[in-house]
Amino acid sequence: MMNAFRNIGVRGRLLLLIAAAMLPLIGLIATGLVVSFRDAELEAQRNIASETKLGAARIARVFDDAREFLATVRHTPQILRLEQPACNTLLAGLKAERPQFLTIGVIGPDRTLLCHSRGVTGSLFHDEDLFERAINARGNRFFAGDFMISPVSGKPTMAVAMRLPPTAGPAAGGVVFASLNLSMIERDIRTLSAATGHALAIVQPRAARILVGWPHTTEFGTIAPDFGLFAAMRQAGEGRSAASDDLSGEPMIYGFEPIQNAGTADLWLTVGVRPAEVYATMQHRLRWTLLLGGGTLILALGGTALIAYWMQHRPIALLSRSAQRIGAGNFAVSTGMDFWQAPEFRRLGELVDTAARTLAQAKAAEEAVAAGQRQFQIVADNTADMISCVDAAGRRTLVTGASRRILGYDPAELLGRSPLEIAMPEDQPIVQSLLETFRAGGEVKGIRYRVCRKDGSVIWVELSGRPVDDVGGCVISMRDVDQRQRTEEALAEATRQLETLAATDELTRLANRRTFNRRLDETFATAGDGSDFSLLLLDVDRFKAFNDRYGHPAGDRCLAAVAEALAACVRRDDEIGARYGGEELALILPGAGPAEALIRAEAIRRAVLALRIPHEDAEDGYLTVSIGVASLSDMRAGKSGAAEILQKADEALYAAKAGGRNQVRARAA
Ligand code: GH3
Ligand code: MG
Ligand code: MG
Repeated sequence: MMNAFRNIGVRGRLLLLIAAAMLPLIGLIATGLVVSFRDAELEAQRNIASETKLGAARIARVFDDAREFLATVRHTPQILRLEQPACNTLLAGLKAERPQFLTIGVIGPDRTLLCHSRGVTGSLFHDEDLFERAINARGNRFFAGDFMISPVSGKPTMAVAMRLPPTAGPAAGGVVFASLNLSMIERDIRTLSAATGHALAIVQPRAARILVGWPHTTEFGTIAPDFGLFAAMRQAGEGRSAASDDLSGEPMIYGFEPIQNAGTADLWLTVGVRPAEVYATMQHRLRWTLLLGGGTLILALGGTALIAYWMQHRPIALLSRSAQRIGAGNFAVSTGMDFWQAPEFRRLGELVDTAARTLAQAKAAEEAVAAGQRQFQIVADNTADMISCVDAAGRRTLVTGASRRILGYDPAELLGRSPLEIAMPEDQPIVQSLLETFRAGGEVKGIRYRVCRKDGSVIWVELSGRPVDDVGGCVISMRDVDQRQRTEEALAEATRQLETLAATDELTRLANRRTFNRRLDETFATAGDGSDFSLLLLDVDRFKAFNDRYGHPAGDRCLAAVAEALAACVRRDDEIGARYGGEELALILPGAGPAEALIRAEAIRRAVLALRIPHEDAEDGYLTVSIGVASLSDMRAGKSGAAEILQKADEALYAAKAGGRNQVRARAA
């Protein structure tokens, strides 16, 4: 049910709507039809009733006339005197003037005919019942008798009778009668029937007898006990119409009315009308109502369907066509809504067209972007650097083809993965901090770290990048700097070695004179804030003689051993041992005052002595050194310099030599 409803389109639904709206109209038409049907039925019944009444009145006139006639005759003296043949002649004369009567006669109290229009006197009057009723009546009551075939005329008839006044002579207590010519009544019936076209009959329902009828002719006085009309009449009560089949079994509607003055004979006039005739008016009306109502309905439905098509279905179809085209990706759409359509539809049409235009622009922009992207891809893939985009979650969303050459990975293999994964474990903190920098909105340039290539080899890369959004997305450019890094490292190492060489004395491995001078100046510069420092100047005793005795190479080895002893006495990183010149060594002791300097000098002197290098020409037989000590705190305030402290140390050294060598001196005196 619901499914069936779902499949009803806009037009069908509008038709349903109009049908629903027309329901009251249809109801009204139907009610009108029923009412008019009933009205027509009532009217037809009224028509039948009035026609029957009129007919009955017409027939009643026959009996009225007969009554008047008998009332007159009963007072006629010739009749009352019963003189024959005058009486017979009179009646014959009267009869001759009245074709409605077959015979007229006077009956004596013993039921014998005393006087008769046909002169048949002496015989008994046949309608005994009528005679009995009339003879026993008072006054001039009028009686109608039973139907019979007259024994006199041999024709169908019924007699009417009235008692003669009691004052009369020989006829006193008698009855005057007339037998009615039923053919004449039949003629009336025929006239009436011809005028209306209906079936008329005079019947006696109690006796189930049809006296005369037209056009359904029956024999006069036919007894028809099965005729349904009689039963219907008996059941009708006050009503004067009933439906019943006629004698030939055809359905009819009957109106019936008692015939006045013939009441004693139970005479009724019936008028039978075919139902088709009764309902003809109704059917006529029905036809017209149906025609007009149906026509109106069809016109309304047709009109609505037309309006629905032009005003609902068509705009919807136009919109739907546009939507379908847009759905199929064709944005060159113009809905073409008619200018006279409802503003809602026009607005919708404009909206759809605007949407299509916007989509077309978006598509063009998208295509431009796609073209740009393709170009970018070509450029990016052919750039030596690997460009990648990393999202806020730290996953690559784009990788250029340079990845194959730099890392050995296909771009697809790197997508969705973190740059951390390929970084060497010890360099991962660098990458982590890079990503955090991007997240904080910072840029980085030329950051180097090591990555593991797909083949397992480790290379140096240089990474630059900048954030592209506020949440940590960034674009990164990675460059293979492995070769450069290694070259730079080698260069740095060479430079470092060169610098060391340049700063070092080759024989003693101590700082050379140049380095010493520079470091002494630096020590002066940094010792300006009240901190002290000392300088030790060391000279090998009787070294010329050593050379002379043991040879110059032995002198060199000896000098190296002394330098080693000095170096072993260096306590702090900022203490500098140096070869000052020839067999003279120096030691700068930053932060050391005169007292500490003396202790340190003494330790060195002992360390050299402890080498136990034999020296025949020396005072004690072993190689010794003399050390002169000078401290910044011993200088004249404000005037001290490298030259001055050197001079002081040299003076102290001279003093040590002068004092007998193998000793430490702090001042010249
Ligand atoms: P003193 O200092 O005790 O007064 O006597 P000395 O013999 O050491 O006197 P001086 O200091 O004047 O002599 C220095 C000698 O040191 C001269 C030179 O032969 C020697 N000498 C200087 N440099 C070197 C060197 O590099 N190697 C060797 N084998 N000898 C050197
Ligand atoms: Mg010397
Ligand atoms: Mg010397």
